[in-house]
Amino acid sequence: MTASPDPSKPQRIVIVGAGFGGLWAVKHLKGAPVEITLIDQRNHHLFQPLLYQAATASLAPSEIAWPIRSMLHDRKNVTTILAAVVGVDAEGRTVRLADGTTVPYDMLILATGARHGYFGHDEWEKFAPGLKTIEDATAIRGTILTAFELAEREQDPAKRQTLLTFAIVGGGPTGVELAGTIADLAHDTLPRDFRTIDTHRTRVLLIEAGPKILNGYPDDLSGYAQRALEKLGVEVCLGAPVTRIEPDAVTFGDRRVEAHTIVWAAGVRASPAAEWLGAAADRSGRILVEPDLTVPGHPEIFAIGDTVAVKAPNGSPVPGIAPAAKQEGTYVAEAIRGRLAGKPVARAFRYHHQGSLAQIGKRKAVIDFGWIKLRGALAWWLWGIAHIYFLVGVRSRLSVALNWLWIYTRAQRAARLITNANGESAIE
Ligand SMILES: Cc1cc2nc3c(=O)[nH]c(=O)nc-3n(C[C@H](O)[C@H](O)[C@H](O)COP(=O)(O)OP(=O)(O)OC[C@H]3O[C@@H](n4cnc5c(N)ncnc54)[C@H](O)[C@@H]3O)c2cc1C
Repeated sequence: MTASPDPSKPQRIVIVGAGFGGLWAVKHLKGAPVEITLIDQRNHHLFQPLLYQAATASLAPSEIAWPIRSMLHDRKNVTTILAAVVGVDAEGRTVRLADGTTVPYDMLILATGARHGYFGHDEWEKFAPGLKTIEDATAIRGTILTAFELAEREQDPAKRQTLLTFAIVGGGPTGVELAGTIADLAHDTLPRDFRTIDTHRTRVLLIEAGPKILNGYPDDLSGYAQRALEKLGVEVCLGAPVTRIEPDAVTFGDRRVEAHTIVWAAGVRASPAAEWLGAAADRSGRILVEPDLTVPGHPEIFAIGDTVAVKAPNGSPVPGIAPAAKQEGTYVAEAIRGRLAGKPVARAFRYHHQGSLAQIGKRKAVIDFGWIKLRGALAWWLWGIAHIYFLVGVRSRLSVALNWLWIYTRAQRAARLITNANGESAIE
């Protein structure tokens, strides 16, 4: 089956997911003769690279997320729908929504991302939540801040130490950034605010199953990141996979450590898009797409971003990062434009890696651009400038820059709020 655009009327393009992939597809379809329906289960686009800062009280959620509807207010041919997609009828060319209604399409772009995966131990999620959404971030922020509040009133020294112990599972960029920022919070921001506890006694463990943190970075940058974290007081535990997580304790290798706060930053699992289509997927549930990012057997369905597995020109897997999703969104928009212009066959998608960046605490970072490697304070400044540049709108950029300046110079974190979804007391 091939897509056969009827030139007399605009093609109906349905895009599911307003993350980096979906939004970039919308952006690059500007001016094309299409009617776009953008469906997302949330009303906001989220800048996930800074989510750990919302989880550690450094930034407010509204500084890293923006209403999708308002971002696209000047795109008259884009209709935004707040709804969860639960299936796709590929034969009938409709998308099924959770409320039972359907949305028809001529071409479909699935950009539904991924969530955390627990390697078959879904029961760990309630003791070790992952970080993917604003709700995850505010819940983790509440857990971290509440731990210090409970410790302040705890008489039993062992229980107090458990409350002051934080375990991060997974030594990738998110784990490194979380561990460094929690250590900064404990050693830099909080000490003078508490009367009974010494927050310098906080333990932060970063647990990584592999032989080094920041796997994928050159060894010298990984080693530097480890030493920088250790200087901040983080205990980096390598080479021992987590085998058990229970309330207030984590077991890895032959160690069992009591920790009130455990955060999962280890695995990801793709959205169920492959299941909706009955498409072949890899072990993480990512659709094995064609080189032109279409779903095998369905040239009218594209899938992009974290929900697909695709190879870079050198044969290595395209990483699940924002630039890859953006490049795929841009590519698919161009492929659709090409089809509408009568060029049905697009060249294969080619991923260009622009670099890897990770922050370590409030003053250091590591950057690997391939042609140059940077670390320390200079890398931190570049990391900050790059992230501010990628935020949406002048207000967010100014607000984030000011917040970072405050944290850098005065160690104050403005977003130290414990909020509770049901509005009751944060402490039972
Ligand atoms: C904590 C964290 C830190 C990260 N740090 C970095 C970093 O420093 N640098 C970097 O490059 N990348 C980073 N990433 C990865 C990067 O954010 C992802 O690779 C990127 O967001 C993938 O884009 P996407 O469009 O595929 O999915 P997403 O951006 O996740 O967007 C998916 C969208 O689909 C919507 N959706 C999902 N299912 C449905 C459904 N059933 N119905 C309707 N809507 C649905 C979601 O609400 C969401 O808006 C980080 C990710 C996380 C979680």
